[in-house]
Amino acid sequence: MVFRQFFDAGSSTYTYLLGDPDSGRALLIDPVVGQVKRDLRQIAELGLRLTDVLETHVHADHITGAGLLREQVGCCVHASAAGASCADRHLEAGDLVKVGSLRLLTLETPGHTDDSLSFVANGRVFTGDALLIRGCGRTDFQNGSAEELFDSITRVLFALPPQTLVYPAHDYRGLTVSTIEEERQFNPRIAGRSRESFIALMNDLNLPPPRYLDVAVPANRACGMVRGEIGA
Ligand code: FE
Repeated sequence: MVFRQFFDAGSSTYTYLLGDPDSGRALLIDPVVGQVKRDLRQIAELGLRLTDVLETHVHADHITGAGLLREQVGCCVHASAAGASCADRHLEAGDLVKVGSLRLLTLETPGHTDDSLSFVANGRVFTGDALLIRGCGRTDFQNGSAEELFDSITRVLFALPPQTLVYPAHDYRGLTVSTIEEERQFNPRIAGRSRESFIALMNDLNLPPPRYLDVAVPANRACGMVRGEIGA
């Protein structure tokens, strides 16, 4: 398997490329609209072609590249039925995304948003904003729920093998990868905390709204194809 982790500095977003050299097919998880050119170039230089895009959720902090990529290369966009209505395929728990010999298993991990999915492939889990490295996504908008997020992390993600590599949608401190075991031990939002204490913590964060909430969420429900100003 070809595997790459790309970073968008403006939104601290990770985009993941998974490729199957035998079929020449590639997929992207959580592409960013401003990085479409870079991503397509990387894929071409690796001798691959983009056939599929997976969204972990409707993002509030950047605009997805899914719609633009679909327009440019005709790829299939996969997302939760609860999220982007523009997706070509709506996924639910247990669904497999097959791209050449690659197989990604869909997990439903709501809580950051009600449409949050994670994907498991080849000893890795792509957690979106459900589980971050030593953190987790906020739960105070887009039908977020601290109760659901606690259950998603502790019952769904922590049920994966402990050595599973954790690849989140964002990092703000320069960390790139973790494991389920590390997060179980050291994630300060979860480790040693009861469900009640996690809910109290999340409901007490009082974070300012994300910079692009009003622009990004409606745009991303349309796979990023609604024009809006998102300049810094
Ligand atoms: Fe998010």
